Amino acid sequence: MKFKIRFVYKILPVLIIYGRYTLKDVFTGRSYGFIDIVDPQSNDPMLIEEHELVHSRQVYRTLFLHGIFYWAIDRYRLFAELEAYHTEIKKRGNTTDVKTSIANRLHKNYNLKYSFTEIYNYTKQYYNSH
Ligand SMILES: [Zn+2]
Repeated sequence: MKFKIRFVYKILPVLIIYGRYTLKDVFTGRSYGFIDIVDPQSNDPMLIEEHELVHSRQVYRTLFLHGIFYWAIDRYRLFAELEAYHTEIKKRGNTTDVKTSIANRLHKNYNLKYSFTEIYNYTKQYYNSH
């Protein structure tokens, strides 16, 4: 098993495990807070890792309540993912039409109660203010 330790907020450890353990079909990464799973065969595992690390930060900064908020509150889940995708995209560099593709993924894969247009508008707002 390939793994590595990284830190968020400089001192809080996160164990990154490379593999598809617990990953469901369309997903290439998953965060459990201090453990992140990253699919090494995905298009760009380093970007997936950055995305999951944002979720690790969210877990630590909510004092481990992130999971409950994420599960129970659609608006929280939407903004948690926007923050993670935004970080991933910044590292990627190429931001061509990124809002549409992110809004699409959020709409299809995250079981949100919002329409595509609503999600797209939230995405646009988020990107314009960060
Ligand atoms: Zn995510």
